[in-house]
Amino acid sequence: MIRATKPPKLDEVGAEAVDAARAALLELVPAEDVGEHLGVQPEESKVVTHLFECTRRGYRGWRWSVTVSRAPRQKTVTVDEVVLLPGDDALLAPEWVPWRERIRPGDLSPGDLLPTEEDDPRLAPAYTAADEVVDADAVKEVADELGLGRPRVLSLEGRDLAAERWYDGTHGPDAPIAQSAPAQCGTCGFFVRLAGPLGRLFGACANAYANDDGRVVSIDHGCGAHSEVQLSKKNLPAPLPEPALDTIKIEDLETF
Ligand code: SF4
Repeated sequence: MIRATKPPKLDEVGAEAVDAARAALLELVPAEDVGEHLGVQPEESKVVTHLFECTRRGYRGWRWSVTVSRAPRQKTVTVDEVVLLPGDDALLAPEWVPWRERIRPGDLSPGDLLPTEEDDPRLAPAYTAADEVVDADAVKEVADELGLGRPRVLSLEGRDLAAERWYDGTHGPDAPIAQSAPAQCGTCGFFVRLAGPLGRLFGACANAYANDDGRVVSIDHGCGAHSEVQLSKKNLPAPLPEPALDTIKIEDLETF
């Protein structure tokens, strides 16, 4: 059973110590930053907090909070703390978000560095399988020496995330340009399939005149620059008229 806690009783001596609280506040803060006395609230037995309006520019809705207390049977208070606290309608800075959660695709500028975490789930050690049977460092050393390459490669999770992103984006089958395309990338001569498992669904577009030139496109994406596009009869340019041969010679003219 949860028992409701009784609110502390307001200590009368502490509540009356408005001047003492203000004096303590003015020792720390310029007088022009301190406004009206806004009220008093009990903290504990013989401990109360006085609230004063903060008139400092940029601190709308903030309050100076001065906590005073007294010993039993004493008629004078001592100051416990002076702090600036936000009221209900205070202007507050947005909650801080770590930069890694704030960063968005496209935020990177030339010269910026964006290191990955050691345990980034999108990457997996290149020799994961070997880790189980031999010392991973030893394998890495040999691999580096042989120039075999990268310490980490795309993990299954990283690969799935990339595939999802590409497929759902503007280079997948739902893009408006693909919806009205005469045929799909999979049948286009400009489609260069990716190597590895991602190649089952994706390739790069190599058509200089296509909007997606140099980008990864899904096999069921498409556009009007497909290599096999033929104009229908009604879209063909009007045929040129028969050439007219001018057979009149100078001699003919002279006879007129
Ligand atoms: S030209 Fe169009 S259809 Fe061909 S690969 Fe590029 S985007 Fe796909």
